Amino acid sequence: MIVALGNGVSLRVNTGFGSSNCLFIEGERPVLVETGGGKALADIEPESVALIVNTHRHIDHVKGNGRFPRATVCAHAREKGVMDDVALSVASSGWDRFMDGCYEDYLADLPVQPQGLHDCRPVHETLSDGDVIDCGHTRMEVLHTPGHTSGHCSLFLPEEEILFSGDICLTAVGPCYADPDADIDDFLTSLDRLIAIKPKTLVTSHSRKVYNGSSVSVLSEFKSRIFQREERVLAALQDHPMTIHALAKMKIIYAHHPSIFVLFWEKCMLEKHLMRLKRAGYAMVSDEGLWSAV
Ligand SMILES: [Zn+2]
Repeated sequence: MIVALGNGVSLRVNTGFGSSNCLFIEGERPVLVETGGGKALADIEPESVALIVNTHRHIDHVKGNGRFPRATVCAHAREKGVMDDVALSVASSGWDRFMDGCYEDYLADLPVQPQGLHDCRPVHETLSDGDVIDCGHTRMEVLHTPGHTSGHCSLFLPEEEILFSGDICLTAVGPCYADPDADIDDFLTSLDRLIAIKPKTLVTSHSRKVYNGSSVSVLSEFKSRIFQREERVLAALQDHPMTIHALAKMKIIYAHHPSIFVLFWEKCMLEKHLMRLKRAGYAMVSDEGLWSAV
């Protein structure tokens, strides 16, 4: 589905698992934000795209980069290392600490093709906060909004007052901060920054919706979920001490664990909440790995 946002800017909607929405800015210098749009990008002449901007390294956002051979690929410097190399999946990071067996044994559960998972996707130029991207008839500002990953960026078109917030995704299952370099406090700071912009139009990499005039309320609600999760973690620890594995079975982050990867991501995010509670003096952990409320 293609949603025209005005002035040659369109949202290419693909909310399928393992895919992402993309933002396309037509004109004399066509710019594509994300490439995981699949059929939603079918009308774009591959040779025509001058610039690809990836909000971050995850495969659902970068998997189509190779379809646009003349495009210069840009991402934040903190994403470049992983994109230039292999093992793009969040599932490849930190698995051994929480899970039995090898994550490769479960690749059939991943919503992406294993052969695509390990493709290299070179980054030609790195982005920094405050960079302004020339899109020909309009421009796009780079906002470094870490939290989901350390190099995650959002893109803002000031003339059109359109914000593309990437994996600050505004879906029912978010926010996600499972990667080793994800950080809850960074995520909160990034949300505050986007709320302060008060963009007229807000779109993301995964929500089907175009938020017109409601960006402050939807971003604020999204932010409140982080605190609600942390309150549920603390309430569980006040019942009785438990390991992170027992806590994960309570499904505090995700209501369902349809694949082993969701259980893994639940544990990764629970750990970030537990460490945050520990730093604040609300939780402690024994030598045996039992967490309890202070
Ligand atoms: Zn992501």
